[in-house]
Amino acid sequence: VADSPHARYHRQQILPGFGPEGQARLANSHAMIIGLGALGCPAGDLLARAGVGRISLVDRDLVELTNLQRQTLFTESDARASRPKAEAAADRLRAVNSAIRIEPLVEDFAGPDAERMLSAHPRPDVLLDCTDNFDTRYLINDAAVKLGIPLCYGGAVGTSGLSMAIIPGTSPCLRCVFPDPPAPASSPTCDTAGIFSPVSAIIAADQAADAIKILLGRADRLAGSMLSFDLWHNRRQRLDLTTARRADCPCCGLRRFEFLDRAPAREALTLCGRNSVQITPPSRGSAGSSARGGGRAGDIDLPALADRLRAAGHVELSPSSLRLQPVASGDITLTLFPDGRAIIAGTTDPVAAKSLYARYIGG
Ligand SMILES: [Zn+2]
Repeated sequence: VADSPHARYHRQQILPGFGPEGQARLANSHAMIIGLGALGCPAGDLLARAGVGRISLVDRDLVELTNLQRQTLFTESDARASRPKAEAAADRLRAVNSAIRIEPLVEDFAGPDAERMLSAHPRPDVLLDCTDNFDTRYLINDAAVKLGIPLCYGGAVGTSGLSMAIIPGTSPCLRCVFPDPPAPASSPTCDTAGIFSPVSAIIAADQAADAIKILLGRADRLAGSMLSFDLWHNRRQRLDLTTARRADCPCCGLRRFEFLDRAPAREALTLCGRNSVQITPPSRGSAGSSARGGGRAGDIDLPALADRLRAAGHVELSPSSLRLQPVASGDITLTLFPDGRAIIAGTTDPVAAKSLYARYIGG
């Protein structure tokens, strides 16, 4: 196949707002996708095919069979080999477009590492938050606002999802809209509530559209609103954000980057000789004082969580602990205590253990 950039991008270049100049802008730009799951896969595919010249792919997880229902960059052989998602996705995107640079980062985007990752590499022109846990989402928002990098936020669980673009200094940030993360273990995750793949595809497409507009220098084409969908109940909504920016927002108003500055969100300690990792929750400062009510910060409602987890595996509940053996993760047992501490048995890898915690217990 003759690799003519003109032919490859022809159907895009003839669109209004693109042209050869727009294509050149995309070729010279850098997008970082954090999280390569139901959102990151379709978003990465769209950006690679559009000709974004450099794409960094950040994910700490391995491909599993349960991912294939919605994570469009992976194959059965990736799942059989338990390949790191960032590497499997990079190989797929290189096969799609060999003219761009793809950089896999098999790392945890957390704590001080996050800012280092954003500074160690050529600074991204746009970030896509395609993660699945609140610790990381609030940390990405802090990093984007602190460093002045536009952020395309997306989230999807069950049959609904939402997306919004954040332009630091111009638009409201995540904390203007949702000041604090939900209380620990109070929100559904994809592993407990499932996920309807068309909804993640829509949200990812909206994030990719916003990212392309930003990279083209056409932030004027952003919606200035939060888009939300529930594809099962056929609801779609645009929440106008033009007056949502708050002068007293701890992040973009007061420039206090609580999630970025505090110690690594969740400590993982390998328990010597036990094939187990202990996860200790973050000490919850002012950021944890949820305005949503419902129990003291740090207090986990184990029976309610047990009800949600029954969809994910075998659950045993005692007054002081909850034990889960997830169907999707063969030899793993999670034991959770009311203060949020957990023992993950069946692994000695702290990163894998943190990932399991995020999947089943949530952010
Ligand atoms: Zn804000």
